[in-house]
Amino acid sequence: MTADAAARAIRAADPGAAVGLISAEPHPPYARPPLSKGLWKGDPESGIWRGTETAGVDLRLGRRVTAIDATGKTVTDNRGDAVAYGKLLLATGGTPRRLPLDTGQIIYFRTYDDYRRLRALANERLRFAVLGGGFIGTEIAAALRTAGRDVVMLVPEDGLGARVFPADLSHALVDYYREQGVELRTGEGLAGLTPRGGKVIVQTTGGREVPVDVVVAGLGIQPNVDLAEQAGLRVENGVVVDELLRTSAPDIFAAGDVANFFNPTLGIRMRVEHEDNANTMGAAAGRAMAGQGAQYTHLPFFYSDLFALGYEAVGELDPRHETVADWKEPFREGVVYYLKDGRVRGVLLWNTWGQVDAARALIAEPGPWRAGRLKGRLPAA
Ligand SMILES: Cc1cc2nc3c(=O)[nH]c(=O)nc-3n(C[C@H](O)[C@H](O)[C@H](O)COP(=O)(O)OP(=O)(O)OC[C@H]3O[C@@H](n4cnc5c(N)ncnc54)[C@H](O)[C@@H]3O)c2cc1C
Repeated sequence: MTADAAARAIRAADPGAAVGLISAEPHPPYARPPLSKGLWKGDPESGIWRGTETAGVDLRLGRRVTAIDATGKTVTDNRGDAVAYGKLLLATGGTPRRLPLDTGQIIYFRTYDDYRRLRALANERLRFAVLGGGFIGTEIAAALRTAGRDVVMLVPEDGLGARVFPADLSHALVDYYREQGVELRTGEGLAGLTPRGGKVIVQTTGGREVPVDVVVAGLGIQPNVDLAEQAGLRVENGVVVDELLRTSAPDIFAAGDVANFFNPTLGIRMRVEHEDNANTMGAAAGRAMAGQGAQYTHLPFFYSDLFALGYEAVGELDPRHETVADWKEPFREGVVYYLKDGRVRGVLLWNTWGQVDAARALIAEPGPWRAGRLKGRLPAA
């Protein structure tokens, strides 16, 4: 997604530029969010493709870049082909964390091919275990349940989305998922996986054994920084970039899930694994590569769907901050503000739409804010 956004921005800024995109995946760029949402609700697969090839971009698919020569300005792929570059963008994203069992019954849900596999399996009357209560786990459990499948979720924390939501909302989501028919085991992590009689036996830290046919792992990703490391670039929770999205090596840029950038509104370095950042930062990197760079100041938003509930969010959603909830209907519709030292650091817009820019503006205000003054500040549009 980042590479597609960058390629288009280069093309727009410099119509004569030669733009090439090398991807390890066999498919041209596509949107990932529908893989765990819209496609399970009847949206057509044709809607995911980004049409990069129509933007005058030379696509080299199914090729993994194995080395960068930052001095000679070439990259080499796994077929041994070398390509020279003037400017290079690393938009290598991330790789799902793996489990300690090698079997085709585990799906690490990241790609279109992963979606196709899981979708085919969801047509069969199989029992699915979903590991993890974060973004991918909650979305995939909802998708499988919507498809009528038998789903058990294993979540080591005591709630869903516990790393971003305040505890009461995280617990309310557990009840909500159970109402939707998901068997939810909170406070139980994974102790082991054993293949037995065609099933995978999931052993929990609570001492239980859960036999399932398919395991979907939603354990987060690790940024793909190996190329950057090998090329000697500065890497620290992702590839470190400056305000023009340049890495520590000349003419090499990085953006998207893999990039560690500074956000001036929050005053911190961050690495964001979300679509808005992929699109906006990708385009900003493309402009910078074409010589039209500007300071990257965008504060990205993110979103997710959980059965009939949905949200958009901006900033630092850290439940360790003080949280101020302004519910119109408890845990169904409202806004949660995350405060630190009197400043709003993050805003969760729960089934509340059209307020992302207002939330950004609030985060940019110096404050100090108190709970009473925040209530009613961002009503649903
Ligand atoms: C199922 C799913 C649902 C999501 N839903 C949401 C959502 O609802 N809201 C939201 O905000 N975000 C969502 N996201 C996150 C969003 O999709 C990512 O932030 C976005 O895809 C990041 O784009 P990227 O291009 O930086 O990285 P990626 O999408 O990971 O792309 C990186 C690409 O680089 C390729 N690559 C890596 N290394 C090499 C190499 N050495 N050589 C060649 N190619 C290489 C990879 O094969 C891959 O094609 C979702 C993600 C997934 C997986």
